[in-house]
Amino acid sequence: MILQQTARWSKCVDHRMQGRACRAVVSGPYKQRMRQLVGSASAEQRSNGVDPVTAQPPASMLGQPSAEELKDFEHPVSVEEFRRMGYRMVDMICDYYSSLPQQRVRPDVQPGFLRDQVPPSPPEQPDSFEQVLEDVHSKLMPGVVHWQSPSFFAYFPSNASFPAALADMWSSALSMIGFSWAASPVSTELEMAMMDWLAELCGLPPSFRCNGGAGPGGGVIQGTTSEAVVVALLAARARALRGRDPADKLKLVAYASDQAHSCFRKACMVVGVDHVRSLPTREEDNWELRPEVLQAAISSDLAAGLLPCFFMATIGTTSSCAVDPVGPLAEVATSSGCWVHVDAAYAGSAALLPEQRAAHFRGLDRVDSYSFNPHKWLLTTFDCCALWVADSGPLKEALSLTPVFLRATGNALDYKDWQIPLGRRFRSLKLYFVLRMYGAEKLRSYLRHHIALAQVFAAAVASDPRFELAAPQRFGLVCFRLRCVPREANEALLEAVNGGGRLFLIHTELGGRFTLRLAVGSATTQLEHVEAAWEEISRAADSVVERFGQTADGAEGQMAEAKEAGVRA
Ligand code: PLP
Repeated sequence: MILQQTARWSKCVDHRMQGRACRAVVSGPYKQRMRQLVGSASAEQRSNGVDPVTAQPPASMLGQPSAEELKDFEHPVSVEEFRRMGYRMVDMICDYYSSLPQQRVRPDVQPGFLRDQVPPSPPEQPDSFEQVLEDVHSKLMPGVVHWQSPSFFAYFPSNASFPAALADMWSSALSMIGFSWAASPVSTELEMAMMDWLAELCGLPPSFRCNGGAGPGGGVIQGTTSEAVVVALLAARARALRGRDPADKLKLVAYASDQAHSCFRKACMVVGVDHVRSLPTREEDNWELRPEVLQAAISSDLAAGLLPCFFMATIGTTSSCAVDPVGPLAEVATSSGCWVHVDAAYAGSAALLPEQRAAHFRGLDRVDSYSFNPHKWLLTTFDCCALWVADSGPLKEALSLTPVFLRATGNALDYKDWQIPLGRRFRSLKLYFVLRMYGAEKLRSYLRHHIALAQVFAAAVASDPRFELAAPQRFGLVCFRLRCVPREANEALLEAVNGGGRLFLIHTELGGRFTLRLAVGSATTQLEHVEAAWEEISRAADSVVERFGQTADGAEGQMAEAKEAGVRA
């Protein structure tokens, strides 16, 4: 028996990784015998020497581990040291959060600022925690944009929360990879339950529920909306090509409005859909896509012998939070066989509010898939994109592949068939902590708080004759600009506001006009921060207007009257 075991072991050490795996199961008398065998290896075999010329280990080393290599491995950070460092790290995080309101939101650094501060090669010997922390403070932190600052109004928010951070810590500690039910049952089961919880909170149609994997629909957590759109497009393609000549994939067409996020075009690039239609929207429609525009595009493609395959509507576009009329658009798209996906990356969290749901989220019962990012505005620290499908069949058709080593008995849901990578993190734990530790009521008041703050800001803009709202205020976003000024004046305004470092906004283009965007949604933002932001913007506008002038003949022309103060629930 010992000989048998030893022979198996010797075979394994031909391949060092396998050898390591085998050693783990060898114990007791076998262990002793193995150590004897290692002890009898020649001096050359036991040496750890590496040929200085070829940088190769001696040939004997590849076949025979040394005693040194077999010694128990000691990690530089023990459990007790981790306990101490962990407490310190939590202290550091708390101090960071306390200091956030005083920090410049955006760093004052230039590209390459870190190049000379990081050694060109990694250390050969371990550095201490203290040394690493010192470098974090002195070298890395100066390059951080403080997304959690209460005065971060750029892009869309990326909410962090302590419950999500705690969950992420635990998930890192477990570090399990739940690609299939069998690989970690809790990972799949909790994800199904959390996606159903979230579907219920958002009032999504029953077809999106996992119902314990009974199908046909269900939810899955992706990393980002960009991944969710690729996955939805792959499912659409699989469904469109069913029973067709594979060459027909060259005829597939995808549609979205010209306000859709660039992830739509990227998904088409990735999936290989060459006919991509970016359909025009108009200011007078508040940048929403009209169903007749979609209908005309589809009819023209059908007449040209092409195959309409995918339509993506957006609830809450990145530029202005426009909301496409999902129901009527879905009716047009589905009648010509398109898969309909709805991207609500940022605004989707607002569906927790019945009043927002009634105003902006109608028609979801007619779509094939829907996604939003709880990591944007629902306190579920990056990354967490919730994607639902009404029928997971085409998704699995597109993505299911089970090599022999992953075959398992039973018919449990395997999330590897709902996404591109095999590996997946335990992200549902973040939702579990957030949804339980906040509770639905608190989450609703959190969202309403931000929407109310955005309304306050929009009202301030609307009441200042120098400014105009560039689009109706929706969710937490306000789009605005100085009216009757040349484009450079608004550019200068943004530069002046951001240059001070006390707040951070970005701009967009609406109808070719330079427009500032203020997105309320950072987890720490309160009324005082929005008021301070308005004061700062207003003060900067004084000097910009003085510099550029402001007349009814401004180079950009006067915009039509600010729309009914632009404040919409
Ligand atoms: N869709 C919309 C409407 C967005 O606003 C964004 C990003 O802000 C995206 C998609 C892309 O999101 P992600 O970074 O999750 O891919």
